[in-house]
Amino acid sequence: MKSSAHVVVIGGGVVGASVLYHLTELGWTDVVLVERKELTAGSTWHAAGGMHTLNGDPNVAKLQQYTVGLYREIEQRSGQNCSIHMPGGLMLAGDRERMDWLRMAQARGRYLGMDMEIISAAEAKRMFPLLEEQYFIGALFDRAEGHVDPTGVTRAYVGCARQAGAEIYQHTWVSGLRQRPDGTWDVITDSGEIHAEHIVNAGGLWAREVGRMIGLELPVLAMEHMYLITQDMDEVAEYNAATGHELPMGLDFDGELYIRQEGGGMLFGTYEQACVPWSPRETPWTFDQQLLAPDLDRLAPSLEIAFKHYPALAGVGIKKVINGPFTFAPDGNPLVGPVPGVHNCWVACGVMAGLSQGGGVGLALARWMVDGDPGEDIWAMDVARFGNWASLAYTNAKVRESYSRRFRITFPNEELCTMVRERVGLTECSNFAKYRVTGAGSADWLQRLFTNRLPRAGRINLTAALDPNGHIVGEFSVARVGTDDFFLFGSHVAEAHHSRWFFGHLADGVRFDVLGLSLVGLSLAGPGARDVLQSVTDASLATENYPFMTFRRIDVGMIPAYVGRMTYTGDLGYEIWVTPEYQRALFDLLWQAGKPYGIGLFGFRALMSLRMEKMFGTWAREYRPIYTPVEARMHRSLKLDHDFIGRAAVEAELARGPARTLGYFDITPDPAEPADVVGDEPIWHGEAVVGWVTSGAYAHYSRRSLAFGYVPSELAVPGAMFEVEIIGQRRPARLLPEPVLDPAGHRMRV
Ligand SMILES: Cc1cc2nc3c(=O)[nH]c(=O)nc-3n(C[C@H](O)[C@H](O)[C@H](O)COP(=O)(O)OP(=O)(O)OC[C@H]3O[C@@H](n4cnc5c(N)ncnc54)[C@H](O)[C@@H]3O)c2cc1C
Repeated sequence: MKSSAHVVVIGGGVVGASVLYHLTELGWTDVVLVERKELTAGSTWHAAGGMHTLNGDPNVAKLQQYTVGLYREIEQRSGQNCSIHMPGGLMLAGDRERMDWLRMAQARGRYLGMDMEIISAAEAKRMFPLLEEQYFIGALFDRAEGHVDPTGVTRAYVGCARQAGAEIYQHTWVSGLRQRPDGTWDVITDSGEIHAEHIVNAGGLWAREVGRMIGLELPVLAMEHMYLITQDMDEVAEYNAATGHELPMGLDFDGELYIRQEGGGMLFGTYEQACVPWSPRETPWTFDQQLLAPDLDRLAPSLEIAFKHYPALAGVGIKKVINGPFTFAPDGNPLVGPVPGVHNCWVACGVMAGLSQGGGVGLALARWMVDGDPGEDIWAMDVARFGNWASLAYTNAKVRESYSRRFRITFPNEELCTMVRERVGLTECSNFAKYRVTGAGSADWLQRLFTNRLPRAGRINLTAALDPNGHIVGEFSVARVGTDDFFLFGSHVAEAHHSRWFFGHLADGVRFDVLGLSLVGLSLAGPGARDVLQSVTDASLATENYPFMTFRRIDVGMIPAYVGRMTYTGDLGYEIWVTPEYQRALFDLLWQAGKPYGIGLFGFRALMSLRMEKMFGTWAREYRPIYTPVEARMHRSLKLDHDFIGRAAVEAELARGPARTLGYFDITPDPAEPADVVGDEPIWHGEAVVGWVTSGAYAHYSRRSLAFGYVPSELAVPGAMFEVEIIGQRRPARLLPEPVLDPAGHRMRV
């Protein structure tokens, strides 16, 4: 065994193997993979091998598409048979809601270049004669679905990596990880130590335990999962003989079922509602290529549907029942990327569909390690989307929910919110991420990171932070309370992502604190906000004394607070920040004071709808690490009078013009079947899909259906007409030059 390597990948499942392969593809060949047993000994060996390109997040769907396309290449290069079957797949709808969802999925697939077709129930029956047509109203057919041999795929990845110089050590258990003062790692195994610059945790079922070796609690949990394989069936033989090919794969949402041909019989599995976590606290190291005891009673409700929808299954013997564990993150998407706060420690785990996603996960992580950037929009998979709040108990509850809702439709929310526009509303804003930056040199440090000039003391402004290629790392409100004393406010979901970036750039003498819930807040918004707040403070809130974008420490009642005059609703408003012991008292004070003004409560979803009327973008939708501030039209936060990271890239882009531009659209819904945009719908121009929606909502006050979306810059002309495809219907979408509500911003400044 080598005593040193550039990278040690821990775990020889399909994911670790893919990471190893992609590292070598990108030129890092001094890499080793360490596997405690045989390759595939975790979840991989007993996987059903199914591959789908569809995913709730289009960016993950894109990486799944890449994965499916990779298998022929690694099979051919390694000489390892992957048993690739590509019969295509049917997603079957039993009711109108599901059919609408499939139409949306088809539309989203368009801009990813997916070739999917809506077909009738009769056509689905012709393609898949085992189904009982009366239970379905239609289907979506995807040619790019199929199945592979998980062991073959893992060996093929490893085979290609080995050809490039990678080494693989099986029966070698990593029992500890020790970081040296210079940030490099000693990987301690039962066959000796390897000194490595980087480590990758691809420990699958044991990723949590590998994380714990360095005091990290990763939000992953294994769930039991069962599938059944039938004896050979006459119906299958007849179909094969008549058509010359195997049956397509099926996804049946009513029974949470997937079904496909396996040899001369059928394989079917289910995401049962009575789901069971496996080893919720600790995965035993003694577990090795084992299966769990089947529990068919748990599957009974799904089996009942399976026998009704595919009657031939009821009459055939079951040859094998597989029950095995595999891991999920709380939202069902993988955990990928650099671990926040731990130098050169990477993860690729929580991958619940390793055969669909493993290739994309390996590619993104390898690019991130080698190039410093994953190369795609992988926000939905970034390990930093979870913070310390993702505890064991949270993970346990959310993973059960994700598992049992695997095939469910999540309906977009609908909120009424006009109270904020007409009177005054109160909401909690503690769920913004809050940071404090102090210490000599803070101002110089932030100025080098931010695209906008820093505000004067007592003021707030908006800014962006960019990577060296000019892509958006984050957007923040910056409040200055002293020469070298700042509060930063940003997106809560990106707290770990942003902290990782700030800590990664920290300068000597500067202190960067993630405030979490040590600073909490309430936000008052609406025309009556000043009257309410003024009635409980001696500080003058008149505009001449407390103009828009002021940030000061004042007393509210007897409560010491930092009060910023700004809101995300676009109305007159104040954000009031206090330490947690005062929040209850603050709420009671404002609530009582607000009663004469008709105060009401509003929530985060309402806020998201209100911000659409004001054309305010948001993190993870309009602002993501694949866009630039020029594309996102953040010009007001972009000042080229100082040096900042990414400035050269911005200047170059300004000189040549952005390739795409964030547009703001007024949609004309179908009066007969009104439905609003929710995000990820394709944008058509003529007969071509030219862009995609980033977010959309019904604006209750303006009574308009609004959307944001990126389109080619040459088409982004005010008034230009596009179409947005909503549930299979192309609806007119006019590009607006300015917010539908108060374009001059008077309401915020009164
Ligand atoms: C019944 C069932 C059916 C499934 N069907 C499908 C399907 O049809 N399609 C699909 O895409 N996915 C399917 N899956 C999911 C799929 O199995 C997983 O997504 C995939 O196997 C995850 O791979 P992995 O490499 O992350 O983890 P694992 O396969 O668990 O690999 C992790 C490896 O790391 C090694 N390891 C851990 N810790 C250490 C250490 N300290 N030192 C050395 N080695 C270590 C382990 O021994 C193990 O081999 C199924 C899962 C189950 C249970």
